[in-house]
Amino acid sequence: MRVTISSTVLAQIVAEMRASPAKEICGLLFGDGTAIHAAQACLNVATDPARTFEIDPAALIAAHRHARSGGPAIMGHYHSHPSGFAEPSAHDAADATPDGSLWLIAAGNEVRGWRAVRDGAVHGRFDPVTLVSLAPCAADSASPEDAIDTKDFQ
Ligand SMILES: [Zn+2]
Repeated sequence: MRVTISSTVLAQIVAEMRASPAKEICGLLFGDGTAIHAAQACLNVATDPARTFEIDPAALIAAHRHARSGGPAIMGHYHSHPSGFAEPSAHDAADATPDGSLWLIAAGNEVRGWRAVRDGAVHGRFDPVTLVSLAPCAADSASPEDAIDTKDFQ
């Protein structure tokens, strides 16, 4: 599976991750199924946010409600691993519903994509997704320093 992501959205997620070195960040991803157009940062309400994440249920409900009334579709969500790798942890696998939703995981200088499926290649729950970063349009202000290493996904 191949999913495109606006480089502006990618830079936004990385900036959030870098601003939160001790706690996992999390948020929702919006798009049309194969293209991520926007990300919305959400409060991490997990009891141990240094090691896990739980998207603020109020934000989740609001986004679903908005999607049902014609707003952007929720493709999945993203979170960070402050001291780990950009791959799903065993804890992520235990929490994931195999519903085909997209998981973006940010760590170090990487953002990688995964899809929660039955019998996935990683922890029996996730298949890797090829993330393709699209150049920003002229109106975007992402700077070259925000460039993310996506070589692993090509
Ligand atoms: Zn995780």
